[in-house]
Amino acid sequence: MDANEIRSAYLSLMAERGHTVIPRAPLVPKDDPTTLFTGSGMQPLLKYLLGAEHPSGKRLADSQTCLRSQDIEEVGDNRHTTFFEMLGNWSLGDYFKSEQIPLFWHFLTEVVGLDPNRIYVTVFSGDPANGIPRDDESADIWTELFTKAGVSADRVVLLTEEHGNEVGNQGARIAYYSDKNWWSRSGGPDTMPVGDPGGPDSEVFYYFPQVEHDTAFGKYPHQNSDGGQYMEIGNSVFMQYAKTVEGFAELPKLNVDYGGGLERIAAASIDSPDVYRISLLWPIVQKIEELSGVGYDDNTVAMRVIADHIRGAVFLAVDGVVPSNKEQGYVMRRLVRRAIRFAHQLGVQDNLLTQLVPVVADLYTEAYPEVAERRETVIAVLEKEERSFRRTLGKGLRELKRLGKTGETVTGKDLFKLSDTFGFPVELSAEEAVTRGMPMTVNWRAEFDGEIEAQRARSQASTKLGATVD
Ligand code: ATP
Ligand code: MG
Ligand code: MG
Ligand code: MG
Repeated sequence: MDANEIRSAYLSLMAERGHTVIPRAPLVPKDDPTTLFTGSGMQPLLKYLLGAEHPSGKRLADSQTCLRSQDIEEVGDNRHTTFFEMLGNWSLGDYFKSEQIPLFWHFLTEVVGLDPNRIYVTVFSGDPANGIPRDDESADIWTELFTKAGVSADRVVLLTEEHGNEVGNQGARIAYYSDKNWWSRSGGPDTMPVGDPGGPDSEVFYYFPQVEHDTAFGKYPHQNSDGGQYMEIGNSVFMQYAKTVEGFAELPKLNVDYGGGLERIAAASIDSPDVYRISLLWPIVQKIEELSGVGYDDNTVAMRVIADHIRGAVFLAVDGVVPSNKEQGYVMRRLVRRAIRFAHQLGVQDNLLTQLVPVVADLYTEAYPEVAERRETVIAVLEKEERSFRRTLGKGLRELKRLGKTGETVTGKDLFKLSDTFGFPVELSAEEAVTRGMPMTVNWRAEFDGEIEAQRARSQASTKLGATVD
């Protein structure tokens, strides 16, 4: 199945099972000034999970477009993209573990057809001695599903930092683990505020034997969620408890929040540990190969960055964001300019966006009609940003080179000049300096912010002055 087919199959299955399929929320959250982007399927639904009634009922599902600018540093690996889609389903006080876990399993093994032998699960170990309940209920449900599928699951192991490696049981499909398998709005089970809801979470990983074993990541799923042979493909949060002064009380209304990465499930479905090989990303990579005349295998990171950043920028443009120097617009500018920088390195000196944006748009026109509707505006917005950065890119790079030659320590002031005169987002210049092995002051960021502040003060002063003169 390709990614579009997986998305449709998922939403059809959810509809069949009584869910209302709701439209995606835009990448820029409505009425929420605390966060720049929608970064999960749960985020736009939080108030309903906390008790408000949803107009579409108690069973909801969607594919939520997400943007995680916090993952930008990870882009270049085989599994993190800043933009991705999260398949989600929610039970608002309706079904719970005994329906959710088998549904998730059914989707993965029977609908998508993943190999049950390569699925690994972690559940919440809690700390029963200290009143933090262990999620045996989920472990039992998973064990039964594995057993029914003919996969040995008798080896449920308790993995903790202390004992993990001693267990030495690589075959264990299901592991009890603590740290990551708990959801609350803030803090772990012991530190979260009294009165807040929280609960255990089951995380699901897909195993790729073809990936070279990387000892840095250990041998268990919980140690591998950010690298190595195991890729996290989804997790189900069970909102089960309210924190009390004494410990935990079961909530009167139990909720489920499931989120699974469409790109990662699609990658598992074609047995590729590299998400860029899926149908929603590979055509972009191929176009970059065509434009640059160089191959993906020799330029993997650069091509991943370009493909990811342009795809994200396209969706931001679809959702009405324009490049600017603040907030969402600044993140968009960073994505576009960083992509152009990497493309420049691959020899694409012009018209990257004119040629790439239509490829991205075509991939999404069926699933998201708004992409087709706003196609021309999106292309125009992104072309304009490319034109303005191309004018100064070469000069900025020369300036960086010159700075490098002096051997002097790069300061926040230098980075400010690169940003102000040549339009280099500060993170991009800092990254350049690091790759070129240029020494940088420890507090370049603070120095840079100081320069920005000073510039702002200057411009305010001159405006005021202007006002008095008038
Ligand atoms: P990871 O540990 O791999 O960073 P996560 O635990 O941060 O993932 P969640 O917040 O649980 O991710 O999001 C739900 C699902 O969305 C993940 O299980 C994964 O399949 C997918 N996902 C999360 N972040 C990304 C990303 N940056 N790119 C692609 N898919 C992602
Ligand atoms: Mg993450
Ligand atoms: Mg994770
Ligand atoms: Mg997770």
